[in-house]
Amino acid sequence: MPGLLLYGRNFSSQAINHLNNTGKPGSPVPQVIPRPEHNVSRKEISSAALKVLYRLHKSGYQAFLVGGGVRDAILELHPKDFDIGTNATPDEVRSLFSNCRLIGRRFRLAHVRFGREVIEVATFRAAANHEDDDSALDTEGRILRDNVYGSIDEDVWRRDFTCNALYYNIADFSIWDYTGGFEDVKQKRLVVIGDPLQRLREDPVRMLRAVRFAGKLGFSIDQTVVAAMRDCRGLLANVPAARLFDEFLKLFQSGFAEPTFELLREHNLFGELFPATEEELRLDDNFVAFVRAALRNSDKRVADGQSVTPMFLLGVFFWVPVKKLAEKMREEEKMSESQSINLASYEVVAGQQRRISIPKRFTVPMREMLSLQPRFTTTRGKRGLNLLEHRRFRAAYDFMLLRAAVGWGDPELAKFWTDVQTQSAEERASSFEMQSSPGKKRPRRRRRRKPKSES
Ligand code: ATP
Ligand code: MG
Repeated sequence: MPGLLLYGRNFSSQAINHLNNTGKPGSPVPQVIPRPEHNVSRKEISSAALKVLYRLHKSGYQAFLVGGGVRDAILELHPKDFDIGTNATPDEVRSLFSNCRLIGRRFRLAHVRFGREVIEVATFRAAANHEDDDSALDTEGRILRDNVYGSIDEDVWRRDFTCNALYYNIADFSIWDYTGGFEDVKQKRLVVIGDPLQRLREDPVRMLRAVRFAGKLGFSIDQTVVAAMRDCRGLLANVPAARLFDEFLKLFQSGFAEPTFELLREHNLFGELFPATEEELRLDDNFVAFVRAALRNSDKRVADGQSVTPMFLLGVFFWVPVKKLAEKMREEEKMSESQSINLASYEVVAGQQRRISIPKRFTVPMREMLSLQPRFTTTRGKRGLNLLEHRRFRAAYDFMLLRAAVGWGDPELAKFWTDVQTQSAEERASSFEMQSSPGKKRPRRRRRRKPKSES
């Protein structure tokens, strides 16, 4: 059965029959896992998602929870994001819910809003049929169109990984499994549905998704997928830069940035996203330590429910490329360190935009944060004091602490800036040796020693 060798897993005998009949993988009949045989409880599903499921079902449509919501519920991870699949068309969905908006041009989806929670309802659709319609793919095999409605047993094959293709049926609380995803979730395996090479070519972002799920869930990536990633990683260059920014946010702001970073590097994908950063990471272990420390902090903030901003991590990724370029600029032309960092960040960001388009609302504060770094060495006078009032002080200070933590900066200086923040106005005036407190002038700070390789 030569066709079978294409696929990364053994599908059921029904799937094999189906493959023989149609040349496509898959079973037209799912394995139905009844409620007593799985652990997905309605308690794990938000009341908003349950409302949508029940209303669709009571109106005579099929209604399934699908994707990450089912996967994470099986893993008892308390999912927060719920996607629903149905055979109702988007217009039919809209007529059932007053709080519903249709979005998307290429493929229309219904968004049903409950306060701040949005439930995404997608009509089942068929995978693009590449044999019949080459125009749906670009020359590298990337999917450009997949907008044909279908039934659930077609919908399943357009999904990326078996763990993401489980359907929880609100009619009887069973799980429908066409691809062996239930066992893969239990075994913590990330397996591509269908031929990994073809599926990664169709949509190279799936490589990033593989790494993201592996990082978040601790899944191992199936060897067939790892091998296909080696061949396909260059195709990320063809993905629109705006889409890669969205994916960057998911990779680095979901609370598992550190393990995800390690996996991205292990699979040589990080350099596809941040080439200038990867080049420096290879030369400088301290830079790797610096990035890791930042990601670890960021993950901790997410775990503690604190906010995180992408501009901080971007500043971390660009710091060494920016510093190097800034030094070169200062050798060529006389300018202050801050100025050179500002100009160099501008250039590094411009180079980066070709891969990942970063909105101005992040690049502008990021440049400010980086340009402020040299100012932490000014601890006297009004200029020093004014830094405390700068609107980017907090981020710049956190960034400086991180530098100090890996030996890039003076720990004494870090302590100085930590202490002054809690001082009274009078104490501050004295710390900064302002003229208003002449009697309290401290002896000049001793020259700080320059660490061996300061960045
Ligand atoms: P999470 O919400 O935790 O990021 P998820 O699996 O729900 O994970 P979504 O991006 O919300 O991911 O997508 C919902 C589902 O849609 C996925 O589980 C998968 O079945 C399908 N899907 C999403 N993106 C793709 C893709 N690029 N290729 C194929 N299927 C996809
Ligand atoms: Mg989701």
